[in-house]
Amino acid sequence: MMLRPHIAYRLGQLHIEEVALERIARRYGTPTYVYSRAALSEGFRAYADACRGHDALVCYAVKASSNLAILQLLAHLGAGFDIVSAGELERVLAAGGDPAKIIFSGVGKTAAELGRALEVGIGCFNVESFSELHRLDAVARDARARAPVSLRINPDVDPKTHPYIATGLKDTKFGIPIEDALAAYREAARLPHLEVVGIDCHIGSQLLEEEPLIAAVDRLTGLVDRLELEQIAIRHIDVGGGIGIAYQAEETVAVGSFVKRVLARIADWRRARHGGSPLRVLFEPGRSVVGNAGLLLARVEYLKPGHEKNYAIVDAAMNDLLRPSLYEAWHEVVPFQEGQAGAKRWDVVGPICESGDWLARDRELSLAEGDLLAFLSAGAYGMSMASHYNSRPLAAEVMVDRDTIHEIRAREPISALFAQEKLLPLTR
Ligand SMILES: *Cc1c(COP(=O)(O)O)cnc(C)c1O
Repeated sequence: MMLRPHIAYRLGQLHIEEVALERIARRYGTPTYVYSRAALSEGFRAYADACRGHDALVCYAVKASSNLAILQLLAHLGAGFDIVSAGELERVLAAGGDPAKIIFSGVGKTAAELGRALEVGIGCFNVESFSELHRLDAVARDARARAPVSLRINPDVDPKTHPYIATGLKDTKFGIPIEDALAAYREAARLPHLEVVGIDCHIGSQLLEEEPLIAAVDRLTGLVDRLELEQIAIRHIDVGGGIGIAYQAEETVAVGSFVKRVLARIADWRRARHGGSPLRVLFEPGRSVVGNAGLLLARVEYLKPGHEKNYAIVDAAMNDLLRPSLYEAWHEVVPFQEGQAGAKRWDVVGPICESGDWLARDRELSLAEGDLLAFLSAGAYGMSMASHYNSRPLAAEVMVDRDTIHEIRAREPISALFAQEKLLPLTR
């Protein structure tokens, strides 16, 4: 039975591509994040293939999953990158990403981060406030450079998703409100060390409907019309990311047809109003590229059946996979052996000292201590949100390529947990 692309039971045992997950657990231990190279490549190609024949660039949102090998594979497939910190910038460079295809988003870029990004020659700064325009202009002046900028516009459309991941409404911290956009562009055009190149938005994450995304694109194109009346030329339009994935068989936006619809809509608008001068189109997908290409592998430590609830305590926890605790996210949990009889209802929890440390609730599973479990659709915002809470070392990560397992992050040794810490010179 196929559970996700390239994740299936074969002869009753859970496999990712041609590798049994049991083999991975034996060799690398648990908890371990496991990715499929084929699923990851297909996730990216869904965008890239739909862009073929257009002037378009797919900038993978690094924060979704930022392991160097994942970035390297995506760069190899032609991806650009959407970054939000100096750390992500250095990751992309270390993975061989092309600086010219990097765009830098985020509301709080420091002067040092702006300076470093300018120094390596990134493609565009997605600026989110008037203050940031001035800071970037000053940084560029000191570097004797001109910084390419796009303004992140908050189009005030409701993406209909979880409030923590809605970013395009009026009352969020993100972007420049659309009613202030003209003033912000005039300011950007006036500043001598900035070069206006684009316009962007990103309205939220895990979006299951395309209409809000299309509405946002229409607001941006309307704004470009007004900018062009003032001789402020825009060379690219960046529609952001946000397309959701099926965690629980939800109906999702089909990436290929969505991308083609956006490209056609933008091309039609250009033809109608501007006699054909084309605009480059950028996409910033994260979750929809990697989400279903990864799983978290864990082992059952203890079973604790109770009067009210049955608890299965596993060796992964909220520090490894935060999404359930953070936004009550639902991850499908599947056992290593297919379809055992004698199921009970279990809450699958971690060992951390928080009642919020749960990974899955009220799941019908047949479990024994020592069993392996896989938490599916954990490729995005899984490892990249992991922490050391309770002094737990970060999990290992492996990438499966047909019948080969590549370790792409070694399990963190305990000594690394406090390697940067220092004792006091206690003399009394
Ligand atoms: C997080 C983020 C993305 C990616 O969002 P997904 O929902 O993972 O596709 C894209 N652009 C910006 C600015 C982001 O902050």
